[in-house]
Amino acid sequence: MGFLNYLGKKTTETTYKITKEAKLKMKIAENKQEISEIYKSIGRKIYENHVREENIDIEKPIKRSCIKIDKITREIEDARKEILFLNNKKQCENCYAEIEKEANFCPKCGERQTNEKTVFEQAEEKLEHSEISPQNEKEAEIVKEELQQKNNKE
Ligand SMILES: [Zn+2]
Repeated sequence: MGFLNYLGKKTTETTYKITKEAKLKMKIAENKQEISEIYKSIGRKIYENHVREENIDIEKPIKRSCIKIDKITREIEDARKEILFLNNKKQCENCYAEIEKEANFCPKCGERQTNEKTVFEQAEEKLEHSEISPQNEKEAEIVKEELQQKNNKE
């Protein structure tokens, strides 16, 4: 690959990363908002139950709300990891410190890192060996989702 081509590719990659990171941050903000709405609805359910003085089963709907919060929390976690990955960082498996992606040991706590490939790295590799360019967001997302689903099943 020629130098200009290389530069062009790098610039596209950088633009892609910036856009991607902004999107992820927006998603995290939306997710947090959604969680606080669920908190409110849980509080409302409990209070309405008190006002009515009836024995309505609010345990089930509250449980459902909690499960929803669990799911959204995982989405936030995934988005955070993806942002780290975009910046060539990862989280220490032990102390959750932000460390270099290639690090074998955590500089903070010394924990050995297993360096298992993340779903994002797998997606990136798959994309590199395919006709899909990173600019083609939609297809890239589909590949990523497929991998995530696969990983969740395992
Ligand atoms: Zn650590």
